[in-house]
Formats: sequence, structure tokens, C-alpha cells
Amino acid sequence: MAREADVVVVGAGPAGLNAAIRASKAGAKVLVVDRKKTIGAPVHCGEGTFARILKPLDMEEGRWVVNRPENMLLHPPNGKEFNIDISSLNVIILDRVLFEQEMAKRAEELGTEFILEKTVVGLGGGGVKAGGTTGGVKAGGEVEGVKVGGVAVDGGERMGGGVALDDGEKITSHLVIGCDGIESGIGRLSGLTKPLPLEDMGSAAQYRMEGDIWIEDTVDVFVGDKIAPGGYAWVFPKRGKLANVGAGVMGVGGHPPALTLLRRFVEERYPDARIVDTMAGCVPVGPPIDTAVKDNVMLAGDAARHAYAIAGGGIHSALWAGAMAGDAAGLFAQDKQRVHIREYDENWKAFMHKNLKKSYARKAKMYSSEKAMSRFMSGLKFAAPLIKYLPIDPLRLWWGKHDVS
Ligand SMILES: Cc1cc2nc3c(=O)[nH]c(=O)nc-3n(C[C@H](O)[C@H](O)[C@H](O)COP(=O)(O)OP(=O)(O)OC[C@H]3O[C@@H](n4cnc5c(N)ncnc54)[C@H](O)[C@@H]3O)c2cc1C
Repeated sequence: MAREADVVVVGAGPAGLNAAIRASKAGAKVLVVDRKKTIGAPVHCGEGTFARILKPLDMEEGRWVVNRPENMLLHPPNGKEFNIDISSLNVIILDRVLFEQEMAKRAEELGTEFILEKTVVGLGGGGVKAGGTTGGVKAGGEVEGVKVGGVAVDGGERMGGGVALDDGEKITSHLVIGCDGIESGIGRLSGLTKPLPLEDMGSAAQYRMEGDIWIEDTVDVFVGDKIAPGGYAWVFPKRGKLANVGAGVMGVGGHPPALTLLRRFVEERYPDARIVDTMAGCVPVGPPIDTAVKDNVMLAGDAARHAYAIAGGGIHSALWAGAMAGDAAGLFAQDKQRVHIREYDENWKAFMHKNLKKSYARKAKMYSSEKAMSRFMSGLKFAAPLIKYLPIDPLRLWWGKHDVS
């Protein structure tokens, strides 16, 4: 017999875990599916974010916060590095494995069930109109030969469905939340997103390195065509002698791949540090999508292109969107009214659509040439010392509101 849930969340990253926590808290029966064996691992992330985003989760303190750097040393193309006091931004470096496992524990305590090491390969029910097809899903709720159940709600419209797993198992649910990251199969199957064009994709490589050379209270950011054309390289010190050292570039531009650039950078700059492990991944750096909901499917986090293009940061926005999607799912589980799904779409847009667009426009300008980047750096050098004297939270200028409490 098929498993059943009110809500299936696909992906146990920051977006999916927060969606699960919020929906479970509201009393929904939530099932989270992730293809990973261990929640949070392997990490594909620099793990830098802001303490403020952990407040609504009540997770500001814990083993998952491994550093609180107060300085950012910027290395512009002209070699004249300068320091910015970032203490008022409350930057933190996470251990994402510990962070996500703690979130999963909290979700489980609230009743969320997890299915790990299974990949969602099909989407059923919602989005399927009689006589039509949506993103490879056959009309009538058939997914790759697997019949999926459906429920009639909200005036008799067939909205139910669920997902099909790679082992043939089907899970029926009223709602599916696609938090399945940049490649989002749920986005494609529902027709909400298309594969990202290369120009809207940032590609990055990162080493976890061990050495005596990192300054613990300082993150380093390097820009310039020699190091990372159209992007930047970073050093985010972690606990002890560890640091995340990475390089990210745009998906197009005729430059060497991110891993080659990173290897060169590290050989030149940190020849004595030891590489502990290597990873590579992609970040959505294009414009935001216009809608993240369709029928009984909602997208959140990287799946909905909720990352900020200017720096490729998406932990904070994935948590925000996950919270909003989870709240909507909790309400929907109670009364099956579609209005909650539509409200999710309105809410995330009101919260961050404008800022995501701004971030994309700034990114396009800033990274267009080394000259443009140097101009930006000169402006920053002049303005940065003022940040700590601002009478308001500096992140407000960048994000606008930033708490989904
Ligand atoms: C190299 C690199 C460095 C980065 N550094 C930073 C940083 O320092 N700060 C920052 O804020 N952001 C950073 N980002 C971006 C950040 O990692 C993402 O924005 C963030 O993880 C998005 O969270 P999410 O929950 O939307 O998706 P993800 O964290 O990608 O989680 C998606 C989950 O879905 C699962 N999944 C996918 N498809 C399926 C399927 N079909 N079936 C089952 N499970 C599936 C995956 O296994 C995964 O666990 C970085 C990204 C990269 C690649």
C-alpha cells in the first residue's frame, strides 16, 4: 500500500527542513525524501551566513556555529587589500552537517518522517489537466507507469498526487514542496522551471583545507580576472585549523573551470596547507522566477532560484522560503483551501522578489569586467568603514526585512 502524507517535501536542505518543521508544527503529516544517505552530507557550500537567520529557529547557539568572523579582508585586482569591520553583520560560519542534522532532529520531534537514500523521479496528480501533459507527467496522474493517487478538494478539483521514488514506491499526498536544489526535478516536472541556462549558473569548487595560516576572525575575499574571472575566491576559516577555500565563476565566459582556478589559487597562495577534501557545485545566479506554485506544487530555496546572485548565497533565503512554504502547507493540511498555496507565492514575492531582482542586476554590472569590479571595490573601500555606525541593522539595506518569525 502506498504511503500517505499531507505534505511530501522533496529535499532535506535548509529549505526542505524548515518547511518540514513549520508544516509539522502546524499539525500536518509530513514526509521528507532525500537521495542523500546522511542529512547534510556531503556539504556543497562555503557555509557562510548570518546569525540573524537562525533566530526564528532558536538555533543561534550550538556546535553548528563554528566561527563568528568580525573582519573581511578584501583583495581587489590592484593588490591593495583592505579590511572591513563586519562585526555589525553578525556573520557566522556554519557546520552544515551539524546544522541540518539538528534541524532534522527538531523536525522529527515534531512528527516529520524521513525517507533517505531514495530519489524522487516522478510527480503525480497536481499539475495534470485532463487530456494534457505537464513536464513529462501523463494526464490522469500516471507517472512513468506508476499510478499515483489523487484527492478531490476545494470544490472538487483534482489536486492530489504525490511523488514516485526510484525504487518504484509511490507516496500519495495533497501537496508537494520541491526543495530539491538547483537541479530541481520537481521544478521541471511541474513545469515551473526549466533547466538553468549556463549564464544564470554560478559554478564553484571548494577545498576544505587544514593549516596554521588562517586568521580565525577574518574571512578573505579575492576578486579579479587572474583568480576568478566574473566571480570571486574565498577563505572562510572554521574551527581549529580548518578553512573552506573556494572559487566561484559564472557558467559562461571562456575561462578555465572553477576547480582549475582554485588549484592555481591555492598553489600560489597557500602551498603549505593540506587539502582535506574537494567538492564542486552550482548556484543559481539568474533572475528570480515569477511564480513558485502550480496546482498542488510549491518550490522553495534554490529550486525556486531563491539565491542572491551577487554573492551566490542562498542559505538564508532557502530558510525564509522554506518557512513560508511550510506555514502555507500547514494551513492547507487543515482546510485544503488553495488560497494558502497562492498566499505562499504572494508572501515570498513580497518578501524577496524585488531584492533578488536587484541583486541580479547588480551582479550583472559588477562582474561584467575587472574594471567594473575595481570601481565597485573603490566605492566599498570608501563606504565600508561607515557600516558599523549605521543606526539600523545594515542587512536591512541589502535585504529589506529579514526575519520570518
Ligand atoms: C560551492 C558552493 C558554495 C556556497 N557557499 C554558500 C555560502 O557560503 N553561503 C550561502 O548562503 N550559500 C552558499 N551556497 C549556496 C547554498 O548552498 C544554497 O543556496 C543552499 O544550499 C540552498 O538550499 P536548498 O535547501 O534550497 O537546497 P540544497 O541545500 O541544495 O538541498 C537540496 C536537497 O535536495 C536533495 N535532492 C535533490 N534532488 C532530489 C531528488 N530528486 N530526490 C530526493 N532528493 C533530492 C539533495 O540531496 C539535497 O539534500 C553555496 C553553493 C555552492 C555550490
